[in-house]
Amino acid sequence: MTLPPSERVPHIVFLFSDTGGGHRSAAQAIIEALGVEFPDQYTWEMVDFFRYYAPPPFNTATDTYAPMAQIPDLWELGFVASNGRYRARMIQRVIWPFVKSAVNRLVADHPCDLMLSVHPIINTPLLRGLPKDRPRYMTVITDMVSTHQWWYEKKTDMLIVPTREAYDRGLALGVDPQKMHVVGLPIADKFTHLMSKSEARQALGLPADLPLALLVSGGEGMGPLEETINAIVAQKVPIGLVVIAGKNEALKAKLESQTFAYPAFIKGFVNNMADYMSACDVIITKAGPGTISESFIAGLPIILYLKMPGQEDGNVDYVVNHQAGLWLPDPQDVAETLKRWMADPEELARFRRNSAAQARPDSSRIIARTAMGLLGKYPLDSITYYD
Ligand code: UDP
Repeated sequence: MTLPPSERVPHIVFLFSDTGGGHRSAAQAIIEALGVEFPDQYTWEMVDFFRYYAPPPFNTATDTYAPMAQIPDLWELGFVASNGRYRARMIQRVIWPFVKSAVNRLVADHPCDLMLSVHPIINTPLLRGLPKDRPRYMTVITDMVSTHQWWYEKKTDMLIVPTREAYDRGLALGVDPQKMHVVGLPIADKFTHLMSKSEARQALGLPADLPLALLVSGGEGMGPLEETINAIVAQKVPIGLVVIAGKNEALKAKLESQTFAYPAFIKGFVNNMADYMSACDVIITKAGPGTISESFIAGLPIILYLKMPGQEDGNVDYVVNHQAGLWLPDPQDVAETLKRWMADPEELARFRRNSAAQARPDSSRIIARTAMGLLGKYPLDSITYYD
């Protein structure tokens, strides 16, 4: 279902859904990189397939994700229940009669030359439902390590994976290594040219000479952020706090109403995370793949205090195994560790180096080149991957 050839530039449809901040920001990062590397050489649109095409009740997934994600056990049950080798396939078979007409509608509504999916669940139904003369299809995995089996639909033309662990899982599931490459998660272009710490602090109005911890609770603002802040304050750790409450307006309002006997800077959702990461010395965050990958690029030692069970277990292992940070779900441990790091700069520097060693600042640019390569607009064999 490609458009008739003409003078026009190729059209790319990004398939995403707002179940978590990661899918949308991954698509946006790739679009941004395409704009930098291939200006005016393509057109694009983003399609939230859950919201506009999934049959009820799944079309409300974007509204139910945040409340559901607040109940980690329920989340884990869903992830584990659907992720077994046979169960994952069976679920796709069971839902197929219900999604078939939606897939046909989506394909008819959005003719294109390349479908670029940044969501696991759409790949099997689409690649099953697309006609023979289908557009090229590319999948970009937005989870780091604990990758759901639905990502690995073998009929895709190109599968971009973020880590060696995710690559090995693809091999085990029978994906052709010729069309699978390790690149990294797609990250906003701003991360390719970060400000220095002093520039960032000046730009953000943060103190020049105080160690700063960045506390981030994920795009949806989940987790025991408040308890962690209280523990740090109670232990009198000699560090300033920059708190990004994300979309959790209630938490932001609550924190803002408190008087901290402490340098604390409270923010809601920010659009310049790169600057905040550049400005700070340590990050304390939920184990979201985007935030972790960005922290690597900024060379931040990482304290993970919360994870989505199942889906984010592997992210925690990745950070811990590469000694880029620690898994500390107990707020007291976070406070004690920060205190120790402030007293022992060498330990902090080691974590910083290990974190920076995992950085993939060019990932979105490589993905953009690969997408244009699939469209015959860039030499695919000139691209260097991290395989
Ligand atoms: N983010 C942001 N501003 C905020 C909070 C988060 O831009 O105030 C971004 C963050 O930099 C990351 C994304 O939201 O790119 C969150 O993605 P992640 O994979 O870490 O977690 P998710 O929320 O998808 O589980």
